[in-house]
Amino acid sequence: MRYWISILLIIVLSGCAARHRGEPSKPSAVNYSLAAPELLRIGLVQNRMKVVIEVKQDALLLAMNNRSQICTVSGSVELNLTDSGVAWKSGSDSGFNATGLIIMPLNPVGNLIWDETPYPGEFLIQKRGQGLTLINIVELEQYLRGVVPWEIGRPGLIGMAALEAQSVAARTYSIANLKNREVLGFDMWADVRDQVYRGHSGLDQLCDKAISNTAGMILRSGGQIVEAYYCSTCGGKTSNINQVWAKESKPYLVSHPDGPAGNYHCSASKYSKWETVFNGGEIDQTLLITLPEYIEWLEASELRKKWAGKYFIPASPGSDPMTPGRLKNISIQSRTASGRVAKLAVVTDAGKYIVCGDRTRWVLAPPSGRFSILKSAWFDVHLSRDAEGRPDQVTLKGRGFGHGIGMCQTGALGMAANGTSYKKILKHYYPGSSIEQAWK
Ligand SMILES: [Zn+2]
Repeated sequence: MRYWISILLIIVLSGCAARHRGEPSKPSAVNYSLAAPELLRIGLVQNRMKVVIEVKQDALLLAMNNRSQICTVSGSVELNLTDSGVAWKSGSDSGFNATGLIIMPLNPVGNLIWDETPYPGEFLIQKRGQGLTLINIVELEQYLRGVVPWEIGRPGLIGMAALEAQSVAARTYSIANLKNREVLGFDMWADVRDQVYRGHSGLDQLCDKAISNTAGMILRSGGQIVEAYYCSTCGGKTSNINQVWAKESKPYLVSHPDGPAGNYHCSASKYSKWETVFNGGEIDQTLLITLPEYIEWLEASELRKKWAGKYFIPASPGSDPMTPGRLKNISIQSRTASGRVAKLAVVTDAGKYIVCGDRTRWVLAPPSGRFSILKSAWFDVHLSRDAEGRPDQVTLKGRGFGHGIGMCQTGALGMAANGTSYKKILKHYYPGSSIEQAWK
């Protein structure tokens, strides 16, 4: 029902895609009563020449700019980028719109399919930059149903409190990141850049129950919505946010042990300890790509440059940091309060690169394997050298999986299995924050 009220509101208010109510200017002393954001805009893919949507039952095709109805579509709807807009084709019908189109199903639950995945809500296909962007416009609680099982898994009843904690963390993260990707035309990505969201494939009854048990609950600290970061496995100690990312410190994102020494809440994780090995020329091939990317990443932001300090010392005048050459040495210069690498010195033919915090995971991206970046920034470096003294093998031995900031998901599952409530789990991982019923 609320879906339809939302749709009507959108039609009446603006004709624009998602609308989010802001916080009231004078929150009540008893309850902050933040209004639920009616709809989120989740970016599924961008820069496509063509997008094909399957409509299981009937849906309305609307013009993006004013939501005026174009026609009813069903079956396969093909959308193609053209020089001047978006062309669409459905059966024998076809047409064109300069900015974009909305596909609004008459039955909003699981009626639209993209990439073999059913999605709730509606789709917006927008011409943006050099291609088409596909956006899922979806209610927050429906969105969470497609996030929680993919973010923390389906542990069954024993993990119920962790599922509830994950629901509150994901809901809070979503509210804190509204309009975060406005430059791209949506709120959040549907992957690890924000939260993994796979529509309504793989729904889980217990995850659904955890979401409804905590409906409308979010975390606050000092009156502000918490930036509720979380990661897979902290490895025994969580991170100070400002020591691993170029971000300000937060009182609730501080380093602390994840349980008693030697028996951490996440100690059963398969990522508790790991090893990554670069053989032969693999490290040089990796650094050839990742060191210039690191320099570009830093130089794209004054804040990052300030955070990193002096990040390149040339081997000789005129040495170019964008052409690293071969590796000479890698050493850890300093560590954060949690033991993660704070500054890593990578010396190549071009000079010395100082790689900071969590960015070490991008620079030392494993040469192969499932994960595109190093599992964590908590590692030791072991070098062996060839007859000429060049490194011929680099071994990284580390702990944990993820940035270590905020909630440790494996730790939350461990606490849940020990009978800890979701409120206590959240207080442990976001110390000093409060859990509030922001809306019903
Ligand atoms: Zn942990």
